[in-house]
Amino acid sequence: MSLTVVGSIAFDSVKTPFGERDRMLGGSAVHFSLAASYFGEVHVVGPVGDDFGESELSVLTEHGIDTTDVERVEGGDTFFWRGHYDYDLNTAHTDDTQLNVFGDFEPKLSEGSRSAEMLFLANIQPDLQRQVRAQCEGARYAALDSMNLWIDTARDSLLAAIGEVDCTIINDAEIRELTGEPNLARAAAKVMEIGPRAVIAKQGEYGAALFTESGFFALPGYPLEDVRDPTGAGDSFAGGFLGYLDGEGGDLDDATLRRAMGYGTVLASFNVEEFGTERVARLTREEIDERFEALRAMTQFEVPADLP
Ligand code: AMP
Repeated sequence: MSLTVVGSIAFDSVKTPFGERDRMLGGSAVHFSLAASYFGEVHVVGPVGDDFGESELSVLTEHGIDTTDVERVEGGDTFFWRGHYDYDLNTAHTDDTQLNVFGDFEPKLSEGSRSAEMLFLANIQPDLQRQVRAQCEGARYAALDSMNLWIDTARDSLLAAIGEVDCTIINDAEIRELTGEPNLARAAAKVMEIGPRAVIAKQGEYGAALFTESGFFALPGYPLEDVRDPTGAGDSFAGGFLGYLDGEGGDLDDATLRRAMGYGTVLASFNVEEFGTERVARLTREEIDERFEALRAMTQFEVPADLP
């Protein structure tokens, strides 16, 4: 089984009440692929500029991530995001977004990326997400994330992209904004009317809620005493969620989706313990499974074998 992701590969400058970092490795595709790399084969798609060095690339390759489709644009600059958080770490304040090499990016996927069974369209311009979706004809399960910038500036493309995936994973405030529906259950139902069979509403430290045709399931965030930087938590959640699903193969029934919610929650929790990719980059599968079992015990989260 294997998993392809398209999204931003970035330099992030981030300030939180607990410290700051300038131009650290980040981006939605980077956070996602590192988290997913603990479960199986990952192909990452996206452009970088001359300023993206071997040391940044090696963070990915050292985790076995296939970087064949990381396209280096000569004379270009890598995507850049600057943001800050106040004491409410659930809300990211964007101070600057420079698309740079994403401005003229036209994805052309290698055979390895095209033939993956699973696809994640991480947060990036929705037309690019659609171009990649069209190339991955064989993907039997596709999921998508987005953000308020694209709801505000490319709403029709985003709605079209959502219509082409099986699962939408998005912040709860953004689902409400996208659908114009303040009630979360109704908002999720509206998203499902567009196409996806599953909708996950991410709720920051409060966890995530899964809506499917046959049910509802929610998990709180893993309780942590040290949270330093929430940047990339949503992408790490998606990486744990889809990485687990990819490893499972077979039927993606509600019981499997619920377990995947647990793995998403665990990867997101590791991500926020340190800045950028620092913590997730040095995880082990044993640490992940240990925390999954701790989460299960703490929340008494059981998955009946006979769920539909
Ligand atoms: P998250 O905290 O999981 O929502 O995602 C944070 C990551 O998203 C950061 O590493 C940023 O580089 C990246 N990011 C921020 N804004 C955008 C955007 N407009 N398009 C794509 N990626 C973005």
